Amino acid sequence: MELAAAALAHACSSCTACELSGSRNRVVVSRGASTASLMLIGEAPGATEDQQGRPFVGRAGRLLDQLLIEAGLDPERDLYVCNALKCRPPGNRKPKRGELEACRPWLEQQITLVNPSVVCLLGATALAAVLDLRDPMSGLRGRWIERDGRRWMPLFHPSYLLRNPSRDPGGPFALTLSDLRQVRARLCQGDAASGAPLP
Ligand code: SF4
Repeated sequence: MELAAAALAHACSSCTACELSGSRNRVVVSRGASTASLMLIGEAPGATEDQQGRPFVGRAGRLLDQLLIEAGLDPERDLYVCNALKCRPPGNRKPKRGELEACRPWLEQQITLVNPSVVCLLGATALAAVLDLRDPMSGLRGRWIERDGRRWMPLFHPSYLLRNPSRDPGGPFALTLSDLRQVRARLCQGDAASGAPLP
């Protein structure tokens, strides 16, 4: 599995299928465990990710890891993290539809490789790119969606939480923590049914 993940990352690292290949520093493929039952999909790399070649390693990524740990999940062992788009859009602009479509085969290979039972979609762009759902995040977050034999959970993007840092009950931060605890509980149910050790 790790060899297959490395081969995929190597192939993706030389992709020139869209115009972002001309402005990126590094292709940002994934981090975490390719054997995990949980996959997190975000929007696109930012400046720090573009420099380091790993997704969610800037401020938003550190916040995401903090939330995962608070929810009882190990960010390196219990999940696989990637973005719908593997190269940074200049100036962190929104990904264009054509870029997301060009990058889609890489994401599909990642989903096939990891074969997660649970997938969290971080933010509206990931939700639209992966499941073609465009309803407001406030109405979809925290709700399970059953599709293609998997359970999908929309979550607020950690960048949104950085802009809304209050931990008040009912706020985006508290809701996201609650959603991640729901995700962990679901994973524990699945692991208990399969006899695998709980995360
Ligand atoms: S964003 Fe995706 S499709 Fe575009 S060059 Fe990078 S890896 Fe290839």
